[in-house]
Amino acid sequence: MKIIKRKFDAVIVGAGGAGMRAALQLSEAGFKVAVLSKVFPTRSHTVAAQGGIAASLGNVTEDNWHWHMYDTVKGSDYLGDQDAIEFMCRQANEVVYELEHFGMHFDRLENGKIYQRPFGGQSQNFGGAQATRSCSAADRTGHALLHTLYQRNVYANTQFFVEWMGLDLVRDEQGDVTGVTALEMETGGISVLQAKVVLLATGGAGRGFQASTNAFINTGDGLGMAARSGVPLEDMEFWQFHPTGVYGAGVLISEAVRGEGGFLINKDGERFMERYAPNAKDLASRDVVSRALTMEIKEGRGCGGNTDHLLLKLNHLNADIINRRLPGIREIAIKFAQVDPIKDPIPVVPTAHYMMGGIPTNLYGQVVTPYNTGPEEVIQGLYAVGECACLSVHGANRLGTNSLLDILVFGRAAGKKIIEDLKKMPHHKKLHTNSVDMSLARVARLDNQKNGENVAQTAEELRKAMQKHCGVFRFPDLLKEGVDKISEIAKRIDNTEIKDKSKVFNTARIEALELSNLAEVALATMVSAEARNESRGAHAREDFSIRNDDNWLKHSLYFKEGRRIDYKPVRLKPLTVKSFPPEARIY
Ligand SMILES: Cc1cc2nc3c(=O)[nH]c(=O)nc-3n(C[C@H](O)[C@H](O)[C@H](O)COP(=O)(O)OP(=O)(O)OC[C@H]3O[C@@H](n4cnc5c(N)ncnc54)[C@H](O)[C@@H]3O)c2cc1C
Repeated sequence: MKIIKRKFDAVIVGAGGAGMRAALQLSEAGFKVAVLSKVFPTRSHTVAAQGGIAASLGNVTEDNWHWHMYDTVKGSDYLGDQDAIEFMCRQANEVVYELEHFGMHFDRLENGKIYQRPFGGQSQNFGGAQATRSCSAADRTGHALLHTLYQRNVYANTQFFVEWMGLDLVRDEQGDVTGVTALEMETGGISVLQAKVVLLATGGAGRGFQASTNAFINTGDGLGMAARSGVPLEDMEFWQFHPTGVYGAGVLISEAVRGEGGFLINKDGERFMERYAPNAKDLASRDVVSRALTMEIKEGRGCGGNTDHLLLKLNHLNADIINRRLPGIREIAIKFAQVDPIKDPIPVVPTAHYMMGGIPTNLYGQVVTPYNTGPEEVIQGLYAVGECACLSVHGANRLGTNSLLDILVFGRAAGKKIIEDLKKMPHHKKLHTNSVDMSLARVARLDNQKNGENVAQTAEELRKAMQKHCGVFRFPDLLKEGVDKISEIAKRIDNTEIKDKSKVFNTARIEALELSNLAEVALATMVSAEARNESRGAHAREDFSIRNDDNWLKHSLYFKEGRRIDYKPVRLKPLTVKSFPPEARIY
């Protein structure tokens, strides 16, 4: 196999909001940057973000970053690291204004300021009245954001490698990262991209569940790359199920619908969230609302012939509000649920949406090694930002519109830190050929496999197993069985065969490579979920139904090698303000 070698200052794997925000920083500083993406940059999943970006601009109701910080800590069910949360909330206004100056077309209020809408878990004055914090461009905020960042990057001469798939990290004998191996999807050719710094920005892995709001490309590739090269994965038991995926299709109906005044009803027409969250009602935190929907269905108050979904009502809103503020939602409802929300409610169910866990990093996006082998140490040359990283600012449950904020704040912070690194690195380190050979062997095995498992079928089994064994509520026997089942499926994934090589071109090869990444994510999730004997945020165990701060105020770290779990403490100390100690979480 002929291997092409190329050299860059930095290679960024992923052209979503996180990767492009970091790339912009580097290209503007004059560095030679390569950004790889499996799809055209503006088709990354960030483009699908609907509701908004959280920032305490206070354009509609009074607000400040300290209240935002409190809500994020509480939303995280106290698992979020408070230094990172302070860092993020304090910089929110600045990154939003920066986007405005980049040319992003936010919606406007009458007075010309950026339009903001209320979202779940947002409060004024540390748990008081509802706050209005999400800056939006109709229900297409991610679209506006991603196109803005792409255009700025083109202007700054960022070099995009479109339809290129990162395969594995290249590490040298000291463990420093010196590049990546990558597959050019069109030709099937493999290259080694040598770099002084590699940044993983590969987004989420929601495609590991059967019902998901995520794009097909969200297969956790960065996590697979990290895990295979010995980096642990943090807090993988915490998956957000969004309360309102379209029933039967999984496509997302944004929380913005409830922010604009929509609400959920059961088969009796009851606004049931009033029972579960008397104050915040439909704008309680997502984990709370998803559990409420699941309970309604379990107790027979679901809608339809099979009583297996709930209804999201917005037909009491003015048609003009729906057309102006939620045009994309209306289109989705008509296309995927065959209802026009101006006239009828939308059938919805909780659907896998966001991965709170990921590759462990510090505030500057540097990937850090396990805590229990001594003080946390940075892996030289390796960074991660966006949904694939875990800082952790979202802890056990992310608040709506805090992810777009996360990718902007930490994309920029990582970019700045990488510039500092690069200034100190005049030369590339040597490429370690063993590491490259291991990656090539993985692809060669796949190409040469005979009588192996079918990729699509095995992927379907994996998704079904995750849905059944690691859903909104988690049961001890199902978790135990789930670990065995996913382990068995993962073993078979190591022997998948690309059928009909002559006919299916490269897509089958890519699906097989993606599946091996999803298997790493699934294993990390099941093993971490089985080990955490408490309920916190999105991890709701039937047998340990309450949060246990005495024993579990700690992050999980899953190691591929030996499928081992270690833990590291939550950083409760913020940067400058007083800590928010764990309290009962009531909405
Ligand atoms: C439907 C939907 C609506 C949402 N709405 C909101 C919202 O309103 N507000 C909010 O805050 N959050 C929202 N979120 C969450 C938020 O959009 C995401 O968490 C965030 O955009 C992730 O950004 P990212 O840059 O990390 O990853 P992505 O935008 O997913 O980008 C990942 C990039 O990595 C590339 N990639 C992946 N693997 C490889 C590989 N092996 N080689 C090369 N490239 C690779 C992809 O091609 C892509 O370019 C929403 C999510 C969904 C699914």
